[in-house]
Amino acid sequence: MITEIRLQEEVEKWLERHNIDNQIVLTEKYNEKIWIADWNTVPEKIQELIMGKLSLDLVFEDEGSICGNCYRFIYSGAEIWLSDCEIACKECALEFIEDVIQEYREEGSHSSANIKGLGISFIPGIKKEGFEEEKEEYQVGYHVGDIDEPAKIIQRFPENKELILIDNGSDAFTARYKIYSREIA
Ligand SMILES: [Zn+2]
Repeated sequence: MITEIRLQEEVEKWLERHNIDNQIVLTEKYNEKIWIADWNTVPEKIQELIMGKLSLDLVFEDEGSICGNCYRFIYSGAEIWLSDCEIACKECALEFIEDVIQEYREEGSHSSANIKGLGISFIPGIKKEGFEEEKEEYQVGYHVGDIDEPAKIIQRFPENKELILIDNGSDAFTARYKIYSREIA
């Protein structure tokens, strides 16, 4: 009987011999162990062995990214924070919420098209930092009435306010967002 550790080592050697980059990491949020590699070129027999004997999920590299802070895997589609090309998972991003705010805040005078929004899970974090929710919900997209271009909307706010856009449930045709604001100290 081959032990699990032995099996893992054997597969690691096999991957190395075939020059396949791979990494065993934990996933963000659930802390499940996964094995990341390009599994396309790995025979199914080996894949089945891994999934059957080791309780590791096989994940392709392009399914997500590694958090630059805690090195856990973030499935793409998960909310991520990009700064200097480093990606942080939601948990780490909340730990450094003031940095996230600096990265995502907009000012009333801002007219650039490069406007970014955060997901709703960031609301408690930014509230703690003094941001308050504005009443109105905005909508931009392909339907008639979807006219709240963020660049236009943020011009309506006084220049002494910094703003954060929070994605409030968007689909393929419409982006809905709310604005959180705080006064610039
Ligand atoms: Zn992290």
